[in-house]
Amino acid sequence: MHQNKEEEQIPTHKSLLDDEGVDAYFKEVMPAIAAAVKSSNAIPSGELYDFYRTYKEFVDVMEVEGSRALEVLSRVLRQSGIRAPAIFGSKANETDLEDKFEALIDANDQLTERISNKLDELAGLRKPIEAELVVSSSTPITNKKSMEASWNTKRTLHGEKSSPSYRLLAARFVQRPQILFKEKVDNSDNPFLPKLRHKPHAMLPLRESLLVPEIAIEQAAPNPYQYEINHFEYTEEQLDPALNSLQPKPLRESGPLTYIDKEEQLQQLLENLEGVSELAVDLEAHSYRSFQGLTCLMQLSTRERDYVLDTLALRSHMHMLNSVLANPQVVKVFHGADSDIEWLQRDFSLYVVNMFDTYRASKILEFPRHSLAHLLLHYCRVNADKQYQLADWRIRPLPEELLNYAREDTHYLLYIYDQMKNSLLEKGNEQKNLLKAVLDNSRLVCAKVYRKHVFSEDGYHSLYVKSRKAFNNRQLLALKKLYEWRFRLAQQEDESEGYILPNHIMLQISETLPRESGGILACCTPTPPLVRQYLHTIHSLVKEAREEPLSISQTIRTEARLQAKVTKSILDSLHDTPSDILPPPVVLPPCTITPGKVERKKSSVWSLLTSNSLANQVTEKVRKLKEAFVTPLVNYAPVKFIDYTAMFHHSLKRPGEPVTPAPSANTTVDENDVDETDPPPLKKSRDSLEGEGEDGHTVEQVSEALDAALSKAERKRKKKEYQAAKKTNPLRMRPVSNPEKKLVAPDPEFSSYDYATADYSEFKVPQTLRSHRGSGKGKKNKSKNWRSDKEKNSTFQK
Ligand code: AMP
Ligand code: MN
Ligand code: ZN
Repeated sequence: MHQNKEEEQIPTHKSLLDDEGVDAYFKEVMPAIAAAVKSSNAIPSGELYDFYRTYKEFVDVMEVEGSRALEVLSRVLRQSGIRAPAIFGSKANETDLEDKFEALIDANDQLTERISNKLDELAGLRKPIEAELVVSSSTPITNKKSMEASWNTKRTLHGEKSSPSYRLLAARFVQRPQILFKEKVDNSDNPFLPKLRHKPHAMLPLRESLLVPEIAIEQAAPNPYQYEINHFEYTEEQLDPALNSLQPKPLRESGPLTYIDKEEQLQQLLENLEGVSELAVDLEAHSYRSFQGLTCLMQLSTRERDYVLDTLALRSHMHMLNSVLANPQVVKVFHGADSDIEWLQRDFSLYVVNMFDTYRASKILEFPRHSLAHLLLHYCRVNADKQYQLADWRIRPLPEELLNYAREDTHYLLYIYDQMKNSLLEKGNEQKNLLKAVLDNSRLVCAKVYRKHVFSEDGYHSLYVKSRKAFNNRQLLALKKLYEWRFRLAQQEDESEGYILPNHIMLQISETLPRESGGILACCTPTPPLVRQYLHTIHSLVKEAREEPLSISQTIRTEARLQAKVTKSILDSLHDTPSDILPPPVVLPPCTITPGKVERKKSSVWSLLTSNSLANQVTEKVRKLKEAFVTPLVNYAPVKFIDYTAMFHHSLKRPGEPVTPAPSANTTVDENDVDETDPPPLKKSRDSLEGEGEDGHTVEQVSEALDAALSKAERKRKKKEYQAAKKTNPLRMRPVSNPEKKLVAPDPEFSSYDYATADYSEFKVPQTLRSHRGSGKGKKNKSKNWRSDKEKNSTFQK
């Protein structure tokens, strides 16, 4: 039942991304459909059919064509994740024709319903639906990606250790802003490339700025402003104390803020900002319904005014702000800018030259706490309202309370900057060492480079270790498979991995290894929409894992490894991946080493410290090591250079295509000179996003699985059997306590974040549009909603 490559090419949404693709597809498909309809009408029916059936030739043709038609149908439905066991199941032969037809109508309904949902989403673009706000409580999530972000240090004003309660502001119907983006997001495995085309305030021309040291080529593109960031000189004014600094009035008395969501207004803003020498900047972002994350809002404050920019609407024009942000004559004041710098590069090609990070200042001034809320309280006696920290910033129009919340983040920041600068000067020496230390640390932040979140082969293992579960090899294999499937689907659908399948559900499925798809659903409350849609894929992955022979030794090894790690060297213990998966610990190259060797060592140090999976776990110590060792090494060691511009221009021409660096005269890479300790090169392209699971099993397998899921009595029986087996299974081990406990970063997925209130709403058909559609099925009016009945009474319902 395996088709060849040509036949398998069912157009996916990728070819249908733009209007042209849709047109071409339409042109191709319509004649085929017309021909099919014509042929099917030509088949004799009624008595005539019975007559024809007395001819063997006719029967033969009908049988062959019939099963071909069925197969095409099954492929279409399979591709769309629609189940129709009555048609394709193992018992399909026993199902009578009428029931089959019924099932077909049902499947058709599911398809059209899905299309309608998508159309609703698009219709929302023409007729924006007022966001209905929903507020629910939640404990905060800490993002493990960034160790030093402002929100990483909890914004409690009184320093209590317990998780403060946040209110999660969501909305019932939020459109995907990605639909409106002029340039589609590139979620491929290709490394992120800077898209900067003009370089205002350049000290080094753009072309030269894109030359990178060979050793860094695989890791990330360079920061085009690296040179300027390293070499610009502080203004006299910024090194002098701030005199007569006045605390801004509270928001209520401060006059209206300027909201900017049009290109002309952005132009006007730039004119307003001329002559400004300090600017407070902050960003708000969204990460749940996007693979790489989206910057939704930019807040700017001058001494006179507050501005809020709708960066979703202005996305393709934001680069204009480089004239200010990259201008070394203007001090940009941020609080904890690590993420902001990356987001600016990722979404807008914006770069910051000359920054004062109040978070860095707070560290150098040795404040007891380093949050913005603390600074606001300390300097301004303002009790910051941080309850909307986790709001869905994609909501438009932005409710006033969110606007005010956002505004407050920069409103007082220039005043705080003045005060901090003054005390840095006061406490520092003649050379203004403390102020310069803050500015130099801020330089390092500006020099950061956005890197895509790349797939890590051992990512599932870190997750496993953190979960403190003890899995056998089957369970681990299931986790590995699900982990990869989830990552690839997240890339494809432009969703976060957490939205596709939250960690705790993924772990639960891996742990229970449900025999039937019903068991998979039982692991989810509520069921994420894509889990329902890809249920058979998940199920077949689990099935593959179940088929793996059990090995007792592996379970034991895993446990032993967990315990062995306690005694590992300091560098090793920074990450929670077992050492046998990682390259050996960093060895600093001795100075006496020959140049070629230095290159290799450096390369391995660099990759170890910059590889994404590890970067997530890098602690202060490694950061320091990198700053002290790797950065100067990269800057001053005699390294080969690669003409990065070739890659760059390639990417301009054909975005999204795999990049191959153009061979240049001075890049001679000795094949044998590759350090084995380096992680494998980044994968440049993936064969197929659907590859995993989707095409990996036959129709029969799917039907079987679906059949099994259908029979309730059978399911119950098996569940009981499974529960009993689970109790007595001698291979299951008691969970080991995690010896790494203290070193493990808190995982957002394990917090009590109430993702039930997160925005799954667009999967619901709005009532108004529902009536336009005939239900088309009478008796089997199954709920098309992914949410369980219990869920339906939750916050999203009116
Ligand atoms: P801030 O720098 O505090 O204005 O935060 C900027 C963005 O970081 C917010 O819009 C959120 O997207 C994200 N963020 C802030 N705090 C948290 C948190 N506790 N957990 C996850 N994301 C956060
Ligand atoms: Mn911020
Ligand atoms: Zn903010």
